[in-house]
Amino acid sequence: MSATEQAVGEGLELVRCQYNRSGFRCVNASGGLIYAVLQPTRKGHRGRKVPCTTPEEAALVVARDRGTPVGTTCDCGRCMANAAPPPAAAPLTKEEVEKRAADEGLTLALAGTTTSSNGGYKYVVDRTSMRCEGFAIRFVKLEALRAASPNFVPPSPNRFTTAHEAALALARLLGPDGSAEHAVVKEPLTEEAFAECMGKTANGEAFGGMFGGFTCEGLSPPLTPNPGP
Ligand SMILES: [Zn+2]
Repeated sequence: MSATEQAVGEGLELVRCQYNRSGFRCVNASGGLIYAVLQPTRKGHRGRKVPCTTPEEAALVVARDRGTPVGTTCDCGRCMANAAPPPAAAPLTKEEVEKRAADEGLTLALAGTTTSSNGGYKYVVDRTSMRCEGFAIRFVKLEALRAASPNFVPPSPNRFTTAHEAALALARLLGPDGSAEHAVVKEPLTEEAFAECMGKTANGEAFGGMFGGFTCEGLSPPLTPNPGP
């Protein structure tokens, strides 16, 4: 029975490595000699070398030593770096984003009010207003972060499928403390947001913005509904 067949029978994977001359992980092939390199038994020591006749046989010795189940891929730095990128991930659900934020100790900053333009989150903007798709972190916030830290690296691209993903990205930029602080600070209303609110009011598209139960955050003094015609 070949080493490959034996591995299958034992439920083990002969882990291939495209950067190892032998073709297998932890199998040394040099000068016509082939060795399986076992795991070190003591910290700081090298693993014992077991001479073998073929790379496959050595790979089986390694697989038994490490107990690599079927499907194991090489975890050497070079193989990991070259591993195919995962398929495009489906957008995270709101619950998934909330769970990740909680796991990372981050606070997602909810906007005081949910408008079509912020998706419910502070400093998040709907890019459809810029004739693009998805959501982005507001430019003013990125500029402020850049001004505060010379090493600041903005997200590239600043483009997210959903508002909550943009909020998570922003929370990650801010870190645990920064995002908690950011969540309680009021987002100033920008001129464009103000203009947007006014525009929507004017064209009747979003009367809710002024008349239907929510107000534009940050207006001072708060706008009161016009009596209307
Ligand atoms: Zn490798």
